[in-house]
Amino acid sequence: MLQVKNLNVTYGAIHAVHDVSLEVRDGEIVSLIGANGAGKTTILHTITGLKRPRGGHILFDGQSLQTMDAFKIVRLGMAHVPEGRQIFAQMTVAENLDMGAYARRDKEQVAKDLEAVYTRFPRLRERQRQNAGTLSGGEQQMLAIGRALMSKPRILLMDEPSMGLSPLLVKDIFKIIQELNQSGITILLVEQNAKMALSIADRAYVLETGRIVMEGNAADLLSDEKVKKAYLGA
Ligand code: ATP
Repeated sequence: MLQVKNLNVTYGAIHAVHDVSLEVRDGEIVSLIGANGAGKTTILHTITGLKRPRGGHILFDGQSLQTMDAFKIVRLGMAHVPEGRQIFAQMTVAENLDMGAYARRDKEQVAKDLEAVYTRFPRLRERQRQNAGTLSGGEQQMLAIGRALMSKPRILLMDEPSMGLSPLLVKDIFKIIQELNQSGITILLVEQNAKMALSIADRAYVLETGRIVMEGNAADLLSDEKVKKAYLGA
């Protein structure tokens, strides 16, 4: 479904992503784990068209993305749940969800999808007229996910969805990710919480200073001694 080949990304003189190749197949949950500054966010931004690569190829269902406008990428069925949620704080919950559907033309279906988001997240329905900036951290994360779902994605790229949440809420968010996947949405998940990210993923990649250093079956990585030492606090 998504293929990234020999991706290189720079910020001026900083070479943030080196020759990264990865693949996400239809129906999978794939996790990309790594420490602070490893380049995880940069990779997601480059896939979703927010940042242009220096070199390499990004293919989504065979279509090349690296020169495509971000809104067209959304229209192809790819949505991004950004790091730190980045909801529109001064807008209501309902307006935020509406923004998620901005690239769509099928307005009748949009209304149905809004109903589905409110059914999945009853808390958002209760708070639809509340300013998003006044939601709790967990509610904001649900709103960020709901907003992404409003573009009707086939693949969801999630950047650190567990960040800043209490252990109980982290569990809830990972459960939601699994449910979304079971409903047919393919997931590329970027996380510092390697244990949770590996426990729900089919496959995973380990990123260190802009390079993929390990990849494989998530269960195998979870029991790998090197991964345990470096990322699982063992
Ligand atoms: P974190 O988990 O802390 O968000 P990350 O793995 O997502 O980290 P990135 O945010 O992709 O890492 O950063 C990768 C590298 O690129 C870092 O060295 C960072 O300082 C650098 N970088 C990121 N954005 C910019 C920018 N806009 N200008 C210059 N350097 C940047």
